[in-house]
Amino acid sequence: MLSIVIPVHNEADVIPTLLNRLARVCRQLGTATELVFVDDGSSDNSVALLLKARRRYPDIRLLQLSRNFGKEAAVTAGLNHARGDAVVLIDADLQDPPELIPDMVNEWRKGADVVLMKRRCRTGESWVKQVTASVFYRLINRISDAPIPVDTGDFRLMSRRTVDALNRLPERNRYLKGMFAWVGMPTVTLEFDRDPRAAGKTKWNYLKLVHLAMEGITSFSTRPLRIALILGLLAAGAGGLFGTWEVLKALVLGVSTPGYASMIAMITFLSGIQLLCVGLLGEYVGRIYMETKQRPVFILAEDSDDHVQDYQPTL
Ligand code: UDP
Ligand code: MG
Repeated sequence: MLSIVIPVHNEADVIPTLLNRLARVCRQLGTATELVFVDDGSSDNSVALLLKARRRYPDIRLLQLSRNFGKEAAVTAGLNHARGDAVVLIDADLQDPPELIPDMVNEWRKGADVVLMKRRCRTGESWVKQVTASVFYRLINRISDAPIPVDTGDFRLMSRRTVDALNRLPERNRYLKGMFAWVGMPTVTLEFDRDPRAAGKTKWNYLKLVHLAMEGITSFSTRPLRIALILGLLAAGAGGLFGTWEVLKALVLGVSTPGYASMIAMITFLSGIQLLCVGLLGEYVGRIYMETKQRPVFILAEDSDDHVQDYQPTL
């Protein structure tokens, strides 16, 4: 059986088209398929639409989170509850064409554990987003141990053992891109052209993206801390050398030490670096704090399949 996990947050505009296209793909697949929709606290009538569709297609399952937990949590919920031997993750907004799912399933049948979908181009996204994304990937891959493949989103197929491995990762800060990379497994990459959003508008803004980027960097590497250490050493070394030089100069040439401007510059520069490093440390401490609370990643309010099978949430 194949599970298709779809996080949904206020996507009423696209759901009819999405359902049509998914239904066509499922028919073409010829395997049992469950569509696991995860409603991430939508406030429009996405839920009503999905429940109505469920009456027509019993393969539709709807998990409703108790509020908006964010895409990463919604996907985590979907992966936790998917029952398929393989799971496809796909966005609701049709930026990832469902028609590619048969190709992904083919690769999986040939033995791949993970089928990654790599964007050949990003139509309909502003160049600012494209540039920031590329800078971010380069940065995070420089500092993290398991490189995150460039230009791949969450659109992918994963085998059962890959999903089980993911479900076993206990962290509460779920930076999925990094977690996928960390789990590894034999991977095949297919290329595709990413479409612009079919309808509605993106739920991301730059603040959220910066937050996600910080999350990515701090949850997958402690190297920034080491960089802070090295920066401190360098500054101390430079200060020592400069001090010695000034003393020697005073001994040989006599005392003349103007330098009010350079002093101000040094003080502001160094205290800036200090605050930066303290803030960085705080990021990590905050992360530890959040993890120690041991709160669940999501709260499930409703599972449309509740009566069918008891489930045991692993998180
Ligand atoms: N999404 C979600 N919870 C959120 C924000 C988004 O489940 O808080 C879902 C959304 O419905 C969509 C997917 O995540 O299926 C990707 O969101 P979006 O298209 O807004 O992001 P973008 O493609 O612009 O990165
Ligand atoms: Mg999108």
